[in-house]
Amino acid sequence: MPQGSSAAAHDAAPTEEFDVIVVGGGNAGFSAAHAAAERGRRVVLLEKGLPDQAGGNSYYTAGAVRIAHHGLADVADLLEPDERHAISVLPPYSAEEFAADMATVTSGRNDPALTEVLCRDSLDTLRWLHGKGLRYRLMYERQAYSDPQGRQVFWGGLAVGSVGGGKGLIEQHTRAAEQAGIEIRYGIRVRELVSSHGAITGVTWTDAAGREGTTHAESVVLAAGGFQADPELRRKHLGAGWQAAKVRGTPLNTGDLLTAAIAVGAATHGDFATCHSVAWDAWFPENEGNREFTNQLTRGGYPLGIVVNKLGARFIDEGADFRNYTYAKYGADILAQPEGLAFQLFDATTRPRLRAEEYDMPGASVVTANTIEELAGLMGVDPAQLARTVADFNASIDRSVPLDLAVKDGRAARIEPPKSHWAIPLENAPYYAFPVTCGITFTFGGLHADVHGRVLDQDGVPLPGLLVCGEMLGGLFSGNYPGGSGLTAGAVFGRRAGTLA
Ligand SMILES: Cc1cc2nc3c(=O)[nH]c(=O)nc-3n(C[C@H](O)[C@H](O)[C@H](O)COP(=O)(O)OP(=O)(O)OC[C@H]3O[C@@H](n4cnc5c(N)ncnc54)[C@H](O)[C@@H]3O)c2cc1C
Repeated sequence: MPQGSSAAAHDAAPTEEFDVIVVGGGNAGFSAAHAAAERGRRVVLLEKGLPDQAGGNSYYTAGAVRIAHHGLADVADLLEPDERHAISVLPPYSAEEFAADMATVTSGRNDPALTEVLCRDSLDTLRWLHGKGLRYRLMYERQAYSDPQGRQVFWGGLAVGSVGGGKGLIEQHTRAAEQAGIEIRYGIRVRELVSSHGAITGVTWTDAAGREGTTHAESVVLAAGGFQADPELRRKHLGAGWQAAKVRGTPLNTGDLLTAAIAVGAATHGDFATCHSVAWDAWFPENEGNREFTNQLTRGGYPLGIVVNKLGARFIDEGADFRNYTYAKYGADILAQPEGLAFQLFDATTRPRLRAEEYDMPGASVVTANTIEELAGLMGVDPAQLARTVADFNASIDRSVPLDLAVKDGRAARIEPPKSHWAIPLENAPYYAFPVTCGITFTFGGLHADVHGRVLDQDGVPLPGLLVCGEMLGGLFSGNYPGGSGLTAGAVFGRRAGTLA
């Protein structure tokens, strides 16, 4: 068996025929493959990465998945047993609330038809994946706070995650696919779409040994991710400066199939000028596509502290909303600062409340000092300026409002920019500064498709034989993103595309 083939795979022949080709082996591609296989279709999944590079961005995720539900009883059948369920409060989250969150974070630039399906189908799709052997749990460590009664209260519309995070998700998807007889081929870079009389009839590819071939099928499902890993496409669409962003996930999502689909007449959709990007460890040596630490290089604790740039000035409202609704846009704000660098500041009171998975990651970059001035020296920031910023911030906090991390507590710092919630003074040594830069996650612009994943041409007519899902589907997000929606979108539209393929 050649390197790069799964246990279920055969030697790649130069030309061959399947019912369905899925391009890309992430969450969306696997979801499409499962749905097509379920209907008895002969499915081949072509993945660019070799087995030790595979799984796409999905491998790097925390596995957090946003679903509409009516509370714990509604999702209990999906979850692994956990004695903490008895002390958990999982506020219901309706499809309407999910849709409203989509509209709010994107400032209404989300495609309404795609959004409706995303939110409405979310729980049913997760249940379907659960039936295929995918495993879920409540994400206590990142989505719940303890309340004074000792209960675990979930916040921000996001509670459920894959067992084993993104690594577990891909392992479970792969096992389910192999059990369903889906043929998975690794190390296959799909180059072009083959068409005949206006219909897509296959793909051309190059394998890891440099051999070229063509595979034919009745349907091709594109699930090959965004273009975030191509610095030139980033510059072209997102703007100058984006070449410097760090790629959080797979280096293989370089927009290959976006270009190939446009070449056969596919229309694009959505916002190509913005993307999902976050605060990311700036000084960790291997801070791109790190398969060991994956999403642990994220620094999502800023709602507990303040964020300053190299000039020692604050520049965002760290407490504008729950982290789930702000983290995906703040990477761009950091990139716009001098040197594309910022520091998240905490003190002895807040430091213990930061998530260990991220802030205690082995080798996490941090500087620590007993005074703000000393800390500034280690950050390369003017000490007097930083001391002024911290003092002004501390003085502006309305301390009469009690702190409550599980709700938007209105405990604000009334200063420019404001900190709207969870304002906690930095006043107890030692002080901590975590250097952060912009980590790009995925791009928002993609192909234009209807709610079934059928790719549309410039006239809005489906291109026969071509479907799309996952990051490649344009129109859902713009400017920002509600945490956990990427995996939901991949599963919902992957399943739909695979059902038609
Ligand atoms: C660090 C990190 C953490 C994240 N955390 C979360 C989270 O907790 N929850 C959430 O919802 N989202 C999260 N996301 C976003 C999430 O990863 C994506 O929205 C989702 O995984 C996209 O799935 P996909 O299948 O479309 O793409 P991918 O999973 O990226 O899969 C695309 C696949 O296509 C392959 N491919 C590319 N080009 C070709 C080609 N030419 N030929 C063949 N194959 C090709 C790639 O190798 C890749 O395997 C996170 C992302 C990152 C990077």
